[in-house]
Amino acid sequence: MTPLDEIMATSRPIVEIGCRIWEGRVSPDGVPVFGYLFDTPVTRYLTANRYRHKELVPVFSNRCGNKLCITVSHLTLTGWSSRERLAG
Ligand SMILES: [Zn+2]
Repeated sequence: MTPLDEIMATSRPIVEIGCRIWEGRVSPDGVPVFGYLFDTPVTRYLTANRYRHKELVPVFSNRCGNKLCITVSHLTLTGWSSRERLAG
């Protein structure tokens, strides 16, 4: 199972509003995370090709207001964070 397969299997779409809702683990801040060795934010994984930085990681807010929504088109980049912080 690829990471993308795992993400798809751990979320479900709500067709009416276009959101894909995460049903897996969340960080203490309520950010969807997955992975075996360490927690990787789901939205960061899904946008890795779009937002790249040598030292910083992107921070998103959800346009739809649902922190559990992982639909990429619902994300707005709000800033960049140091890798140590797992805020979403
Ligand atoms: Zn959404």
